[in-house]
Amino acid sequence: MYAFSKKSHPSKPVVQKYGGTSVGTPERIRDVAKRIAGQYRDGWTKIAVVVSAMSGETNRLVALVNSVNPDAPAKAYDMAVASGEQVSVALMTAALAAEGIEAEPFLSHQLGIMTDEFHSRARIKSIATDRIEECWNRGSIPVVAGFQGVTENHEITTLGRGGSDTSAVALAIAVDAAFCEINTDVDGVFTCDPRVVPDARLISDMDFEVALEMASLGSKVLHPRCVELGAKFQMPIVVRNTFSPNDHRRTRVMNLTDKQNLEAPVVSGVTLDRDVAKVTLFGLPFDTRLISKIFGAIAEAGVNVDVIVHNVTDLKSAGAKTMQLGFTTTTGEAERSISAIKPFMGNDTLSHTVETDCAKVSVVGVGMRSHAGVAATTFTALSDSMIDIRMISTSEIKISCVIDAAKADEACRVLHKAFISETHS
Ligand code: ADP
Ligand code: ASP
Ligand code: MG
Repeated sequence: MYAFSKKSHPSKPVVQKYGGTSVGTPERIRDVAKRIAGQYRDGWTKIAVVVSAMSGETNRLVALVNSVNPDAPAKAYDMAVASGEQVSVALMTAALAAEGIEAEPFLSHQLGIMTDEFHSRARIKSIATDRIEECWNRGSIPVVAGFQGVTENHEITTLGRGGSDTSAVALAIAVDAAFCEINTDVDGVFTCDPRVVPDARLISDMDFEVALEMASLGSKVLHPRCVELGAKFQMPIVVRNTFSPNDHRRTRVMNLTDKQNLEAPVVSGVTLDRDVAKVTLFGLPFDTRLISKIFGAIAEAGVNVDVIVHNVTDLKSAGAKTMQLGFTTTTGEAERSISAIKPFMGNDTLSHTVETDCAKVSVVGVGMRSHAGVAATTFTALSDSMIDIRMISTSEIKISCVIDAAKADEACRVLHKAFISETHS
């Protein structure tokens, strides 16, 4: 079992990632550098630092590219949005130097963070560690750009919004670190976003499985892919607050034992995804091959579909069955899914709606496997608050409801109250 204390792993390196808010101003960068310098002087010399762009910077770059061309070539888009991390790496290296610590800045192509060629959602294939090892051998701290990678053809890629977490965990795996620290602007992973539910509780220890489900369902504190990698390679992840580092206020994400999992609460957390659009296709002829064609075309367009609802109507008077298909995507991808279907539906025959005023709220917990009634409690809590449910999807460890975006925060609060505030002591 990892103790997650630096002193207990004197020979193993640690990767520390600092997110956008943590490096959001020159003072914050200097504060982080002071903290790293203190740890270095305490004898923790094998640290690799991964940094995100300063807060707001990636949004600014995305808007900038879109203002020039909303359909910018993927290579150009990634080259622009990856540049925020370059500045942070340089500034952190400079701040460490000001603390008397030798540090070396690395962009992904300098280090060899190799990815596939899927721009804006690239996956890391390998990371070369020789230059990192060289840094450590001469007592220097490598400072690495998160979020970005490079293809075999030397093109810059990005890993998806929030992807610096994934860069850090991948680097931790590559250098066989004791653990990967994700330093952010909250104390760890909470039972719900603490900015939405003020009485949300810090989860001290979490199994990878719950963390992955929460991350995938919208809890943005950890990028889903970083949890996936952590689970696959058994790399423990520690989430802590950059601004008030404290050994006890933190979340450790790792493999919990069966016993610990058995004792897990029925619902570990409530998550919210605001980036949801609901697409509905009406009056389709009842034909399963058509369903496969529709989703095949959407997949080919690179659009991820989430919740799917399928209704068949038997029009006895007309003597024919018709179907209605509803599915969700991200708001940015909804129109793309319609364009992908149109060619074989014919513009005139495709009657559809796109609702962008949606959000998805979910309750997550491995304890749900052995407990009945979670769905009933979820629906009662929402209906008691007059929150209409537009779509439902379930798995053995989660229940998700697509609801009106305007009611999203309230839905989180009532579900948190029903499952967590009122059931945990
Ligand atoms: P960073 O810039 O450090 O990567 P992010 O903004 O990506 O930070 O993630 C941290 C934010 O995630 C918090 O400020 C918080 O509002 C949000 N968040 C959403 N769900 C949760 C949760 N369950 N626990 C903690 N934070 C959460
Ligand atoms: N800077 C990138 C973003 O804003 C990556 C990250 O912060 O993790 O999405
Ligand atoms: Mg983040």
